Amino acid sequence: MFTALCFDDVLLAPQYSEIESRAIIDIGNDLGNHHYTLPIISAPMDTVTEDCMAAEMNYHGGLGIIHRYNSIEDQARFVRSCTPRVGGAIGVTANYIERAGALLEAGASIICVDVAHGHHVLVKRAIEKLRHAFPKAHLMAGNIATPQAFKDLESWGVDSVKVGIGGGSICSTRLQTGHGIPTFQSIMDCKMSSPQSKVKLIADGGIKNSGDIVKALAAGADFVMLGSVLAGTDETPGEQFHTEDGPTKIYRGMASKEAQRNWKGDYSSNEGISTTIPYKGPVYKILKDLEKGITSGFSYSGAKNIKELQLKTKFIQQTNASCRESGTHILEVKNG
Ligand code: IMP
Repeated sequence: MFTALCFDDVLLAPQYSEIESRAIIDIGNDLGNHHYTLPIISAPMDTVTEDCMAAEMNYHGGLGIIHRYNSIEDQARFVRSCTPRVGGAIGVTANYIERAGALLEAGASIICVDVAHGHHVLVKRAIEKLRHAFPKAHLMAGNIATPQAFKDLESWGVDSVKVGIGGGSICSTRLQTGHGIPTFQSIMDCKMSSPQSKVKLIADGGIKNSGDIVKALAAGADFVMLGSVLAGTDETPGEQFHTEDGPTKIYRGMASKEAQRNWKGDYSSNEGISTTIPYKGPVYKILKDLEKGITSGFSYSGAKNIKELQLKTKFIQQTNASCRESGTHILEVKNG
């Protein structure tokens, strides 16, 4: 048995810095044939990414992956309406090859095999078939949580892997099944066991703020995938509605009863929840704040880019008391 750490268990020790201006810091990265100035991907969920979110992510230097809980025609139309940097999610059963073909035809730059348990024979078969059918396509797949899974997906032929099981804000997989590994630990373990791998690592699930993004990148991620941080914005699918707490939008797990009932009429294992989230306005404001926070984070580590951040990083483990101190705690003092 080993101890696994999550984002809140760790901090990055500040390092000597020779960066005189944050303007020289480059937080971007490459994925497939494109460069992204913002290492952020919006999650393929039906309350996060359709055409509006994907277009806005593209505009601000990130990537949106259109969810797969729709007809092939609708998903391809969403892809077509965003210009060149957009991804499309697919499953591993039924018409996934046809779906992937339609998405690529519509201009998708990334095909994302998006299932709850990516270290699975159905994923293996799907990757092999997809690789055969679309030899040049960028294939992303997940989710996985262990170094062995990372290596296996690499050997099956993927170009990028989504890492993180059970950490999502709307996820109840760990409660329902007892399985999962904190996303931070999975990132570290996967990166440390395959340091020279060309396969990109996408940290997915449980990222709450720009501090967590910096920790994920420092631990070995190339990009982060976000759900709840982007949920509730204008660009997410779904109506805004008013409650006594103010305007809200729905954010739900794709394995929640509600989502499964919507897209397949019934539900199997219920491993997510559906909830409301305060309305947040346009997503660009969130993306700009994240960008500033990440850039500042690089500066504290004296790093000009992701590669330097990963080389210079020194993590420390914090105690429960230091975790409290790390949050803003003035209210605790005021309230005695
Ligand atoms: P968040 O950024 O913490 O809100 O997590 C978003 C991630 O949760 C997504 O990118 C998926 O990997 C994962 N996810 C989405 N729906 C579900 C679900 O119903 N159960 C478990 N995980 C989910």
